[in-house]
Amino acid sequence: MGYIRCKGREKRSNVYKPPPDSNWNWRNICKVKERLSGGYQNGLWIHDAKGYSIRSGYDWLQGMHPPVQWYKDVWGGWIVPKHSMVGWLIKLEALNTREKLYRHGISDSDMCVLCEEDTESHAHLFTSCQFSTQILRELENWLHLQVQGPHGNYSKMQRKVCSMAWLAYCYVIWTERNNNRIELQVKRPSLVLKHLIQVIRGRIQNLLPPRVKSTDAQWLISLDIKC
Ligand SMILES: [Zn+2]
Repeated sequence: MGYIRCKGREKRSNVYKPPPDSNWNWRNICKVKERLSGGYQNGLWIHDAKGYSIRSGYDWLQGMHPPVQWYKDVWGGWIVPKHSMVGWLIKLEALNTREKLYRHGISDSDMCVLCEEDTESHAHLFTSCQFSTQILRELENWLHLQVQGPHGNYSKMQRKVCSMAWLAYCYVIWTERNNNRIELQVKRPSLVLKHLIQVIRGRIQNLLPPRVKSTDAQWLISLDIKC
């Protein structure tokens, strides 16, 4: 890899430069080779003991990023995959909220479309909007749990349900907010809550293990879930 074959001769890649008038493909091949040559020492690929592979080359070019601490809050467990996507964007504050659209001159207002009382930011939409928090409070009453911690004395199953329920709630609020922008009418919180409970109940019912602890069983019965 430290060498490049050119017109039957081998030249050091860090020496060889393709002529400016050479073929576009050839110049790009040389560019890639030049980049990868930084991963070699004494002709050996230094990022994998087994030698160069497409995967190790790709990882090296991408750069190694440590996993974010909160990835388990968003992926895996009982969380619905499409809810994970919205959860991921919320963690990165990457949803196109009106606050952001207004800042970029795309929206003529930054007001929350659900309550019309405050700026529609990520924090507002999911944790302080009057419309949303009413739904969250009712959801927590139904579950007999605080969806967003502390979860110290909760069973493993209850913790799984809390993670799943929180992202289901965020997904439903974000969907509702998008529908409202298009249809210009706000659904009653009780209707949104009813749909949210259906989603959560269905998810628990589908993923329930064959055996559950008696304390979990009592809790599930209180949610009208058969076990
Ligand atoms: Zn609001």
